[in-house]
Amino acid sequence: MSFDSLAAELAARRAADLYRRRRVLESPPGAQARIDGRPLLNFSSNDYLGLASDPALIAAAQAGAARWGAGSGASHLVTGHTAAHQAFEDEFAAFVGKPAALTLASGYQANLAAICALVGREDAVFADKLNHASLNDACLLSRADFRRYPHNDLDALERLLVTSKARRKLIVVDGVFSMDGDLAPLPALLALAERHDAWLYVDDAHGFGVLGQGRGSAAGLDAKRLIYMATLGKAAGVAGAAIAAETVVIDYLVNFARPYVYTTAAPPMLAETLRCSLHCIAGDDWRRARLASHVAQLRQGLADSALRLLASTTPIQPLLAPDSATALRWSARLADQGLLVAAIRPPTVPSARLRITLSAAHQPEHLSTLIAALRQLES
Ligand code: PMP
Repeated sequence: MSFDSLAAELAARRAADLYRRRRVLESPPGAQARIDGRPLLNFSSNDYLGLASDPALIAAAQAGAARWGAGSGASHLVTGHTAAHQAFEDEFAAFVGKPAALTLASGYQANLAAICALVGREDAVFADKLNHASLNDACLLSRADFRRYPHNDLDALERLLVTSKARRKLIVVDGVFSMDGDLAPLPALLALAERHDAWLYVDDAHGFGVLGQGRGSAAGLDAKRLIYMATLGKAAGVAGAAIAAETVVIDYLVNFARPYVYTTAAPPMLAETLRCSLHCIAGDDWRRARLASHVAQLRQGLADSALRLLASTTPIQPLLAPDSATALRWSARLADQGLLVAAIRPPTVPSARLRITLSAAHQPEHLSTLIAALRQLES
């Protein structure tokens, strides 16, 4: 059997300007990146606080490797769960105000692990239409009745909840929507969850470290029915994910979450690096202040232009393009001027855009360069 059918699908993607290829970075993914020998200002990374190449984290990684070695050697339930993992989990849980936490090797894995364990055939999940792909995959894989509602439309969600006869009801949302940069209305969602005796699962990949003095988009919401998931490869600057919840929920996941049980634990050196990162997230308010000032500078700089920046207060600042071909052309023009700004196209998003992301690692001059280059796209 030949691979002609695969090649045909790829050709169709190419023809529709939807073909994907990977760029090879020749530098750490900081504010200044290098690709093909060319230096580029990087406005495409999720390293919102600039921690990924922070000297303190690098030192913690080195000390962690020296203390624990390179790998964990086994899954958590066998011999892979070290004192480093446990210390990070305890510190993470305390920081986000929950009794217990669980670390996993990635956010994708965390979503599969939690959702597939918490709900099954007799249950229902209620998901925002703009949720991240990993949440959708988890909901599908769980075999629960999978209901999607229009973005942030709480009336539509309530109509679904009212009629549901499911054993367990789980509302699933991004805390900060990854491609639009806007927020889920968590207090209102929690009120709905309470009214309909549902659980609320918040994927805060883009809120943790950035919002709520670093505690994320659910900071200050004291609710037992809220299950909080943060990814640790973005603002935290390392890799992995942590779920924080009531102790019984975490205990249940340790026992029943297959993507947690049947995989090798992440290296303990990463847990040590994450402890250092957590310390920076908790203490370095200046990083968030700098980020807020960059967001304001960008929005002010484009306020009188015809460019369509979505209404976002977070470091995710999407610029809508008329179509995929234009998004690619814009991204290429920016690259010609030394700026790395990723074009995001369907099916990842409903409409093509440049996804501009800002970081505390940027300097105000970097923003000025970006604004000037974006304004030229209008011509
Ligand atoms: N959830 C959201 C909202 C994300 O944006 C991402 C990463 N793109 C993930 C989950 C997956 O996290 P990870 O990259 O750690 O697998």
